Amino acid sequence: MKYLVTGAAGFIGSHLCKELVTRGNKVWGLDNLSQGKIERLQELEDHPDFQFIDSCISDDEVLEELINKVDIIYHMAAVVGVKRYVEKPERVIDVNVRFTSRLFELAYQLDKKVIFASTSEVYGKNNSIPFSEDDNRIYGPSTTDRWSYAISKSAAEHLCLGYVKKGLKAVIIRYFNVYGPYADTSAYGGVVTRFVNQLLTNKPMTVHNDGSQTRCFTYIDDIIKGTIEAGSRPEAEGKVFNLGHHRETSILELAETILKVSGINGDIVFQPYKEFYGNSYEDITRRVPDLSEARKILDYDPEITLEDGLKKTLNWYKDRV
Ligand code: UDP
Repeated sequence: MKYLVTGAAGFIGSHLCKELVTRGNKVWGLDNLSQGKIERLQELEDHPDFQFIDSCISDDEVLEELINKVDIIYHMAAVVGVKRYVEKPERVIDVNVRFTSRLFELAYQLDKKVIFASTSEVYGKNNSIPFSEDDNRIYGPSTTDRWSYAISKSAAEHLCLGYVKKGLKAVIIRYFNVYGPYADTSAYGGVVTRFVNQLLTNKPMTVHNDGSQTRCFTYIDDIIKGTIEAGSRPEAEGKVFNLGHHRETSILELAETILKVSGINGDIVFQPYKEFYGNSYEDITRRVPDLSEARKILDYDPEITLEDGLKKTLNWYKDRV
């Protein structure tokens, strides 16, 4: 099969490109390298079945030409990272809604299937745990910039499902706190790789607030398996799936588990939200997926425990930071 992966030099996008190529597919990877890093695709450099295109998804001509070439589009390109939502909410909406809308339109016109990477953030601060795909979305006010991401992905999901009604073949997947090698270690990255980076550079791990807020951390290999199943099973078309892990972990427990599996005698400090994100932030207290739909239709069952995933992640970063 021939695939287009947008956001190919992103954390999840780059793993996806590698797995699709390993499975014998031909892949075109599009990324403007604004957040993506070309090093993530180093293994595919000169591979006959992979071609990298350094361009933005806003370039209509390039996008149309690529969509014409392939059978399936994985739309992974987006503005991501909580600190970015509070710094540039307008850019979040532009990329995640405006350019995404154009991609759906082109895919519809050219009759190509789309797998759209959405997020567990769409559930917002709903506190009916666990979240199943048709649960309510609950957000704070527009004056709190954090919600720009949830709103952007929610709007894009509506767009996608609107095109599905008109005949587009599409699948929506909502990722729950993905971590692993090649994830961003900067202030814009997720909490796991921030903690790993802090620990390996002899800095204290900065647990926000009291660390009682929870997430379900999902190792990248599990996520890639689910993502590929979503793109290959006809019965998944037109549906929305949670892809995550069932184990709920508090942020403090995450920091403690990282200390335990690393064997490093590091420190944990507590940091007020305001100090890191500024005023326009509100946290999500608990986030847990209901995975029954993914289990039933995609045969998805995350296999990698938090301890094993953290060990793999720590080992990978040890040689690099
Ligand atoms: N967090 C933290 N320390 C950090 C970065 C994040 O305690 O250095 C917390 C953050 O406040 C949130 C959780 O970790 O409660 C997950 O944050 P992340 O940025 O990974 O993504 P989110 O799940 O909120 O989208």
